[in-house]
Amino acid sequence: MNSSSGIKGKKSTWDVPASDMARNTFNPIRDIVDSMRIQPNPEKELIALSIGDPTVFGNLKPSENIVDAVVHAVKTGTANGYGPSVGYVEAREAVARAYSDANAPVEAKDVILTSGCSGAIELVISVLANPGQNCLIPRPGFSIYETIALSLGVGVRRYNLLPDKDWEADVSHMESLIDDNTAFIIVNDPSNPCGSVYSKEHLQDILAVAERNKLPIMSDEIYADFVFPGEKYYNLASLTTEVPILACGGLTKRYLCPGWRTGWIIVHDRNNVFDKEVRDGLLRLSQRILGPNTLVQAAMKNILEETPQHFFDKTIEVVKNNAHHCYNRIKDIPGLTPVMPRGAMYMMIGIDIDRFPDFKDDLDFTRQLISEQSVLCLPGQCFKYPNFFRVVLTLPQNRTEDACDRIAEYCKQHYITENGKVSD
Ligand SMILES: *Cc1c(COP(=O)(O)O)cnc(C)c1O
Repeated sequence: MNSSSGIKGKKSTWDVPASDMARNTFNPIRDIVDSMRIQPNPEKELIALSIGDPTVFGNLKPSENIVDAVVHAVKTGTANGYGPSVGYVEAREAVARAYSDANAPVEAKDVILTSGCSGAIELVISVLANPGQNCLIPRPGFSIYETIALSLGVGVRRYNLLPDKDWEADVSHMESLIDDNTAFIIVNDPSNPCGSVYSKEHLQDILAVAERNKLPIMSDEIYADFVFPGEKYYNLASLTTEVPILACGGLTKRYLCPGWRTGWIIVHDRNNVFDKEVRDGLLRLSQRILGPNTLVQAAMKNILEETPQHFFDKTIEVVKNNAHHCYNRIKDIPGLTPVMPRGAMYMMIGIDIDRFPDFKDDLDFTRQLISEQSVLCLPGQCFKYPNFFRVVLTLPQNRTEDACDRIAEYCKQHYITENGKVSD
């Protein structure tokens, strides 16, 4: 049809389609955020509580030692060549030492370095499922699981997280979603967008579902140890001797360097379930990009072993103070119900949408919030959880306070009471 020359296989016109995989790749947040590109109120400076990047506000920066270590790697020129596709052994040893647990020991051979935690997630989904299979993901949840799975032809089934139970997973709902095509379960603790931190007992309940159904877990641990004072983070793998786990982590959030694109997979497999194929599969898949950036790998030992505790404490302090301020301010706003986080850097806030007749849904609510108050928040739809919105807790505190004041004013203007009265 496309050949006028009559020679088979030759085209006379340019027709270059994108692959099915490219066309099946989409980030659900993109469409929603595009539809939110509306004019903020010109009289009020924009406050973006929407960006999950702690570095953009200028108040949180990487520790000096880690910057120096990367500069050193650049200057000495020792890391300019290709590294092994799974990463330098010294860097993998450093990750193994940092994340080894008495109950879940890790060695360098169990670590694969990746391009960001997203790179780790992509490798894990790719190695555990074929097109036509499915995986279980949390709702509300981080959108990249779906973006990657669907592009690979792997289906997603969403298990509910329960706001009234501090966002614990509904484990019976989770189990009810499993069928013969289910390949693995994704767990994200501490959670984006919820800021929840699961108890040991709850993690054991999730592990029990995996064990009963003989399903491995992909554990997204990008917020490992990123918990408020008094809270305890449990490494999922330390709570099981049976369930094989591929843990995805990285420097991104806790070390405040998202752009450095440094993540890892840690293979926890006490019973050698992954020895048969999965370890080899991960090795093969790592060869597709010939390994991640070497400069940060060269600095990895310093980053993981020399970063002072007060650096982490400071970040947590900022997030916790913002969380307390936001929670206390917003819980008194009629029509809104915040759920107090225990870690990570976000809070979800419920909208009693029937009390706001001016707004159709959470998207409408957050759109108008931009045009009236110049405050940007992500609607719950971005996380497949309507009638909520997410706020980021890494801004300087005075910005957070201003944003809360504006949200209060906004709600006051649009809220009606149960018998239809406008609040005064
Ligand atoms: C930020 C984030 C990631 C991605 O981290 P990168 O290292 O930037 O790829 C993965 N999972 C969750 C839950 C996140 O919030």
